[in-house]
Amino acid sequence: MNKNQGMVYLVGAGPGDPGLITVKGLDCIKKADLIIYDRLACARLTAFAHPEAELVYVGKSPEQHSLKQVEINRLLVEKAAKGKTVTRLKGGDPFVFGRGGEEAEALWQAGIPFEVVPGITSAIAAPAYAGIPVTHRDYTSVVAIITGNEDPLKENSAIPWEKLSTGAGTLVFLMGMANLNKITERLIANGRHPQTPVALVRWGTRPEQRTLVGTLEDISLKADQSAFANPAVIIVGEVVSLREKLNWFEKKPLFGKRVLVTRSSEQAGTLSAAIGALGGESLEFPTISVAEPEDYTSLDNAIKNLHDFSVIIFTSVNGVKSFFKRLRHQGKDIREMGSARICAIGPKTKGELENSGLLVDYVPEEYRAEKVIEELRGKVGPGTKVLLPRADIARKVLPDALAAMGADVSEVTAYRTAMGGGDAPVLKEMFKHKEIDMVTFTSSSTVRNFIKMLDTTGLKDLLKDVTVACIGPITAGTARDMGLNVDVVADNYTIEGLIEAVLKFYGWENK
Ligand code: SAH
Repeated sequence: MNKNQGMVYLVGAGPGDPGLITVKGLDCIKKADLIIYDRLACARLTAFAHPEAELVYVGKSPEQHSLKQVEINRLLVEKAAKGKTVTRLKGGDPFVFGRGGEEAEALWQAGIPFEVVPGITSAIAAPAYAGIPVTHRDYTSVVAIITGNEDPLKENSAIPWEKLSTGAGTLVFLMGMANLNKITERLIANGRHPQTPVALVRWGTRPEQRTLVGTLEDISLKADQSAFANPAVIIVGEVVSLREKLNWFEKKPLFGKRVLVTRSSEQAGTLSAAIGALGGESLEFPTISVAEPEDYTSLDNAIKNLHDFSVIIFTSVNGVKSFFKRLRHQGKDIREMGSARICAIGPKTKGELENSGLLVDYVPEEYRAEKVIEELRGKVGPGTKVLLPRADIARKVLPDALAAMGADVSEVTAYRTAMGGGDAPVLKEMFKHKEIDMVTFTSSSTVRNFIKMLDTTGLKDLLKDVTVACIGPITAGTARDMGLNVDVVADNYTIEGLIEAVLKFYGWENK
């Protein structure tokens, strides 16, 4: 193969839940020089693109005309011919009513190498997330996926209605909402029983998912009454009745909630995973990034004299990571810690220390500086040498109080918190369209940076209907001081505590 020749990956982005991209698909997003995408489902995934990758949106939007298919084909060929790695991201599966076949043909014709990375089609995923298996041994062994775009009353239809209506146990129509009435009439006219169950699933796999169930006879009226619109799949067949037992997703505690996670991307994982496991969708908007200190002098001095300290207090995972990174950089390891007693604030910090091979002597029961000080009384006294490796902007409460107890405190900067890389314009749009239900803050700096990054005078208005959840009273205080209405404050100042408080807020206590 010509080395300078580009490559096109036709990639299925899945139906909407960002977790439903394939491993291979994600890899294609990461390695692309150019990503051509056309669906909202895809927009979220472009966050994984290389920072220098070019992103081209070719879908429909109110502000912008969509590119015609021939123009898209031309663009694919043209860019790949220049040696680019092009990832063509399409909703669902590229070959299921995605015109991926036509794009592949154009590439074949131009002699451009391409690969197809199948995606999870909405035809199967939307029913699955509504608790409807498209096949089931007790119900049907045949499923047909049909376009609902074609006017069912048209003569010389491309759809063999008389065969399909009773020929396949399960019928899944895409793009069919505008023709729903005609589709159901046509199926009945061709022999399908009017009482056959039908489900409509809108925005399947996303927090906006809605499901409407009826029969061939009444679903059209029901849809009109509830203004049920696109994008939706129509599922016709006895399998729909299984939803009564199998409706798993819509019953999850955080179903329907899109929750903003403002922590640094390195730290967002636990919270995001917990939200996902509870049926919510997490949206990461990093307000913080961890950077090296501008000046290593104080940390280096502390490391040089590590044996002098009798207590070392770590207050965060980042503090632990940065400290040990620097220790290794100095050609040293945990043996330098000598006989100092190690104190960790919070279980995650403790875990990180243990990962580094250290046992933690002491974890205070509560994780707020004020409480920690109370608990440290007796363990720290006049002259005790205490090392406190922390962030550049950490609060002074802890070192001040330790000093007041007579301790000799060395507060050193182990890392610096910088602004995160969240995409503020996109987030603002999402707030405007009411696509975000809750914002979570896990420290005062996440609040401050969030407000700085959004940089808008109408912030309060923008967040009017958004629930604000804070990890503890200090963070909540900062949020209130900055003009936000705080709805949820965790009693237990950990991620688990925050999740617990969020569940309680939504009425899921002890369920
Ligand atoms: N290639 C896509 C289908 C593109 S056609 C796939 O495999 O899923 C567009 C149609 O797909 C929409 O009109 C709608 O019927 C359906 N669709 C796409 N995403 C959907 C979703 N999240 N929920 C319900 N229907 C969806």
